[in-house]
Amino acid sequence: RSFGDLRLPEPILRALRGKGIEKPTPIQVQGLPVALSGRDMIGIAFTGSGKTLVFVLPLIMAALQEEILMPIVPGEGPFGLVVCPSRELARQTHEVIEMFIGSLMEAGYPEIRPLLCIGGVDMRTQMEVVKKGVHIVVATPGRLKDLFSKKKMNLDNCRYLTLDEADRLVDLGFEDDIREVFDHFKAQRQTLLFSATMPDKIQNFAKSALVKPIIVNV
Ligand code: AMP
Repeated sequence: RSFGDLRLPEPILRALRGKGIEKPTPIQVQGLPVALSGRDMIGIAFTGSGKTLVFVLPLIMAALQEEILMPIVPGEGPFGLVVCPSRELARQTHEVIEMFIGSLMEAGYPEIRPLLCIGGVDMRTQMEVVKKGVHIVVATPGRLKDLFSKKKMNLDNCRYLTLDEADRLVDLGFEDDIREVFDHFKAQRQTLLFSATMPDKIQNFAKSALVKPIIVNV
């Protein structure tokens, strides 16, 4: 099993090699084919398992297809959203996305616009970026809620949702906020949910958010 088997573009493979990432971890071996196939998925995995790539790589691949199909439309919301329980986790995820985008652009691929949407950062700057058009948003629930309530971002065209560390999202009291996020989706979506643990509460939550998910437990 290798990343080469997944038909990823060369700049992505190069970026992975640049990070010393050569051999997929178990969650990547099992999860990437599922996530890339478009199915909903529950990944039971800890930080350090390599779970980030399981949702980032499909987003990048989808973006490349979207980008070929349609140019950036100012004011249009993202086609992909990642929700994280902490600013730090959101920051790290955004960095990984930027790394792949950088590698792709160097190779002449079209621009993919990501946005880190977290508290503690001037919201006006984030609003400006949304206004110009974004493809992928990595967010914490609080700031996302602010943008929605000010009607500064919509999910009308959003078709990919990842909930990272869902158990922490729920433990931190974000369950209602996440349910509100679901209400903003208009189109059918692929949902990926990652969680280190799967207590009943998270299982029920997953049931209401995902459609016939494949469970990947490594
Ligand atoms: P994550 O669990 O996604 O937060 O990843 C934890 C760390 O493992 C990050 O620093 C990744 O860059 C690294 N990593 C992810 N996948 C691999 C891999 N297949 N081989 C080596 N390192 C990896």
